[in-house]
Amino acid sequence: MTPAFRGCGGDVARQTTVRKVVEAVGISRVYQMPSRLRFRPAPPGTGIAFHRADRNACVAASLDRASLSEGRLVLGRSPGQVEGVEHLLAAVVAQGLTDVFVELDGPEPPAFDGGASTFAEMLWEAGVATGRRFVPTLQVRAPFRWECEHGAVELRPAGSLVVEAREAGHDGNGQRVRLHVTPRSLTAELAAARCPAWTGASRAREALFGSGAPARRSWSPAGEAHRHHTLELVGCLALLGHPLQAEVVVTGPALDLALPALRSALAQTGVLDLTAPGRPVPLWGARRLLDLDGVAAGMG
Ligand SMILES: [Zn+2]
Repeated sequence: MTPAFRGCGGDVARQTTVRKVVEAVGISRVYQMPSRLRFRPAPPGTGIAFHRADRNACVAASLDRASLSEGRLVLGRSPGQVEGVEHLLAAVVAQGLTDVFVELDGPEPPAFDGGASTFAEMLWEAGVATGRRFVPTLQVRAPFRWECEHGAVELRPAGSLVVEAREAGHDGNGQRVRLHVTPRSLTAELAAARCPAWTGASRAREALFGSGAPARRSWSPAGEAHRHHTLELVGCLALLGHPLQAEVVVTGPALDLALPALRSALAQTGVLDLTAPGRPVPLWGARRLLDLDGVAAGMG
């Protein structure tokens, strides 16, 4: 996670980005097209910004730009949109990156192993560059609960990011995953969980990282499906635009519930505070509305 310390006025984190450019090529999941992905260092204040090199278009990872389509997270609008980026974003959240350019040469990142293992390995290879600047963190001031007929999302105060996902409709015997979100825990508990009905081979990943890549955990199909939802929930937390220090408890289909629940939490007064070094800042600062046109123009 982003390095944080307790200052006068709240917890703050330092700006972090990748240390160097890393690139990988694979086949996208839905379009089954070759896709090239690059993570590039970004200056403070950029946030997580996707760059469609084929369209020279940029879109920020933010709730304002996010929608769901056929169970996949979409950012922006056609023709410059990016699709199915939830696994990639989960690896970015776990790495604690506040700023990074994600460059694609099409609408969809490579699927690799069907989970997030390769994204996590790419970011590990890139390394983390910690800047001098402090960045505000989002903190939960009062417990929050949002629910609908399909499940519920709760936010509770915590000093770091903890995620718990439970299956709906069970009397305590259903699948349950709980973890402190770090690069290590994501890799161990979630990253190998693949999309439902995943049929792709892991050959592309083996070509990249050799046969020494760790074998998948032996989860049951139901267990893997639950961990996959939890992985996607972690990815959705990137849409808040700032490091989140909270306990997030989800009961039900996490990806479907996350977007409306996070929007509701941000809209409600007194739930989430954005805390900068020494002073609280207005919550509207949590809505990152970046004008990325200049960013696209400046990228090669
Ligand atoms: Zn997925």
